[in-house]
Amino acid sequence: MLRRLTPVGFHENDSLVANVRIRLFALSCVEVAMTRSVALFSNAIALLLVLSLISSARAQSTTSAVETAHQAILADPKVTKTLDDIKADDARTFEEQKRIAEIPAPPFKEKARADYFLKRFQDLGFKDASMDAEGNVIALRKGSVGKPKLVISAHLDTVFPEGTDITVKEKDGVIRAPGIGDDARGLAALLSVLRALNANEIKTVGDVMFVGTVGEEELGNLRGVKALFRDHKDIDGFISVDGLQITRIVNQATGSHRYEMIFKGPGGHSFQEFGLPSAIHAMGRAIAKISDLQTPSDPKTTFTVGTVRGGTSVNAIAGEARMAVDMRSNSTEELLKLEARLLDLVREAANEENKRWDSDKITVEINLIGDRPAGIIAQDSPIIQATRRAVTAVTRAPSVSFAGSSTDSNVAMSLGVPAVTLGGGGEGGNWHSLNEWYKPTDAYLGPQNVLLTMLVLSGLEDVTQPVLQTRQPRR
Ligand SMILES: [Zn+2]
Repeated sequence: MLRRLTPVGFHENDSLVANVRIRLFALSCVEVAMTRSVALFSNAIALLLVLSLISSARAQSTTSAVETAHQAILADPKVTKTLDDIKADDARTFEEQKRIAEIPAPPFKEKARADYFLKRFQDLGFKDASMDAEGNVIALRKGSVGKPKLVISAHLDTVFPEGTDITVKEKDGVIRAPGIGDDARGLAALLSVLRALNANEIKTVGDVMFVGTVGEEELGNLRGVKALFRDHKDIDGFISVDGLQITRIVNQATGSHRYEMIFKGPGGHSFQEFGLPSAIHAMGRAIAKISDLQTPSDPKTTFTVGTVRGGTSVNAIAGEARMAVDMRSNSTEELLKLEARLLDLVREAANEENKRWDSDKITVEINLIGDRPAGIIAQDSPIIQATRRAVTAVTRAPSVSFAGSSTDSNVAMSLGVPAVTLGGGGEGGNWHSLNEWYKPTDAYLGPQNVLLTMLVLSGLEDVTQPVLQTRQPRR
């Protein structure tokens, strides 16, 4: 379920209750002098109680359905064997991860890695595996009923430009290679899950689509997963395997809008042509205004002018200046509010610079260079409940944490499709740097967690029904 505009831990039930409370308060103020107030008030209290009972009953029935399915799946000997196989496959999966990391996949140039991933799907028996027009690689594992349809994905692309040395270097059990964890680990985890499923002839009830996506990083702007949802209107649930840590469950999609703003003016000599408006001065005005913006801390909403460039010489009135601005929020509404205000300020700044010099020569070009939608999946939704149980079962960790991040799941969450981003297992750091490192500590827990979560969501033939609901196909 989508909780786009509410912070984590604030469920629909709560908002319903809060809403009724607010109305109650309004009612009680107006009616206090009236004789009917007592009756109205107690009616409203009764309504409130009924509503909260209904919603808490609904939440409890979801919880027990997930718990029942989870227990039945854990108790199944075939599942135990499949989990053991994933553990036994650990070394091979790690080798696969290193092989994938050494195939270049720069932004917009993921083809070589995509070809390899497609070949691996085919080797695993998916003769119909294919690459779509955007470049995503897709293998469909049919279920006995075919519904619901769950996607399990990892991203093919890296942030590293063509020509980067991506050779895997190993020392004292630590691997260094750009992209070794992000997201070569996720891709390798998918293949490990598939090998174990096939070896044990595990049949799910719903269909499961395994996908290697393109364009997750930076200016890729989630183009792969956006195309996937455009082409497949019947996706009922979405799992992205990205990042490593298993006990950190990403159920919030941090949305972002990024702009490049180019200020242009006539330019001229700083002394001879003093009196002309300056592109840099106009941009400075804009930055000063942006710096004073106020945004909420909950839902967390942020902004920054990340880079500035411009001018040609110290003794010239600048003819051009450009800056890149990043805005983020866990709420689409707040993100759009911030964006509207910020763009107004930028235009205002250009006008003020013109006015200052009685000119109309300063213009500003505003280009959207990044667009990632926001969303939140409630902690009591079946997909998060299933994930949470799987994490606890495989890691035996006493607690899990919930986090917001920008991943392929953003697109699913913004469309209201239940989604979660899971860690692929192992340890690592220095993301998006040439120094990225990885250590395969208990790495098999990643694919084990994906497998368990998937079985509870998609159902296991003759054992459980899917807890993921089949949705109306989107239009
Ligand atoms: Zn990633």
